[in-house]
Amino acid sequence: MPFDAEAVRREFPILSRRVHGKPLVYLDSAASAQKPRTVIDAMVRAMEHSYANVHRGLHTLANETTEAYEAARGKAAALIGAETNEVVWTKGGTEAINLVASGLGADLKAGDEILLTEMEHHANIVPWHFLRERQGVVLRFAPITDDGRLDLEAFRNLLNERTKVVAFSHMSNVLGTVNPAAEFVALAHAAGALTLIDGCQAIVHEQVDVKALDTDFYVFSGHKLYGPTGVGVLYGKAERLAALRPYQGGGEMIGVVTQENITYADPPHRFEAGTPPIVEVIGLGAAIDWLTALDRPAIVAHEARLYARVSEGLAGANWLRVLGEAPGKGAIFAFTVEGAHAHDVAQILDRYGVAVRAGTHCAEPLMRRFGVTSSARASFALYNTLDEADSFVDALTRTQAFFA
Ligand code: PMP
Repeated sequence: MPFDAEAVRREFPILSRRVHGKPLVYLDSAASAQKPRTVIDAMVRAMEHSYANVHRGLHTLANETTEAYEAARGKAAALIGAETNEVVWTKGGTEAINLVASGLGADLKAGDEILLTEMEHHANIVPWHFLRERQGVVLRFAPITDDGRLDLEAFRNLLNERTKVVAFSHMSNVLGTVNPAAEFVALAHAAGALTLIDGCQAIVHEQVDVKALDTDFYVFSGHKLYGPTGVGVLYGKAERLAALRPYQGGGEMIGVVTQENITYADPPHRFEAGTPPIVEVIGLGAAIDWLTALDRPAIVAHEARLYARVSEGLAGANWLRVLGEAPGKGAIFAFTVEGAHAHDVAQILDRYGVAVRAGTHCAEPLMRRFGVTSSARASFALYNTLDEADSFVDALTRTQAFFA
């Protein structure tokens, strides 16, 4: 049975609003997804009924909240096929990558190499640049092909005995390219490097199994996964987390503290200093419950239909340049319109009620690779409909007329 996007979108209160008098067509889910009622309700319920700080209480509310918080960890672990103690709560994908870069950096020296790709989000570039600036680590960027695939031969050639970490996105937030992550991990491991996969986009669309991928680290944010902002996940193999230096110091991450010494708590709590985003974790748990109850392969097929509808609708538009046409790509449509700045395109589309993003998408090296300073991006989610895909095509065609 085809996926019923109409039924699902009714669960998202915000999707019934209007913008400039037009029905909202929300095509910015790759930046942040909207939230279903069940997530909103779970967070309100947590605050109205059972809220206290976690882990340190002996009273009922503290215990109930701790239980809900830790139960959510189990849900995140199940989502990616991990053990519960391999899931660290962070404030997002960005913090998770910073945590790993900072921890691994302690063991890197000048001349050690980190291999990234040309399609990375700044979140998976800048934390590694810190290591270049501070300790002389060398960054390498594996190139991509014109249609937006990683150049596997070049990737292989860049791996060498100095490569200590290979960090790459599972799915590009601009090109929509889905990388053959297990293959990259195997190549990296064969070269003796550790791997970090940025799953911020892929987790929304792919069924991720970190054990099958065999990656050392995998990160994602809650807010793109129909959950709240302020929470994300770092998965690390148990032995990797055990070997990783703590990131921030404070309450809850310690064993014993004296004036002379400290010892640390075991992972994952070692990496969760201070009061965590309790309500957000509970909200993300609700989002995971909600998403995993849906037919995920049907969602992928639905999103592919949306992308195909847009591609067909705009086929032959000689004023349009699409960035990223890798086979099997996700439903992210990044584009430039001849003679128009992406910001102007996005603002005009907004007048038609169509929300798209424009700019560099936090991927400046990628923009440079394609010789553009910016692009617009329509990103599709499970709640978008074929009618909305048509509305986008229609609004974009009208928008282009302003610049013709
Ligand atoms: N990586 C990718 C591929 C992303 O798309 C994003 C969000 N745009 C991030 C990392 C950073 O995620 P966050 O801002 O939620 O930390």
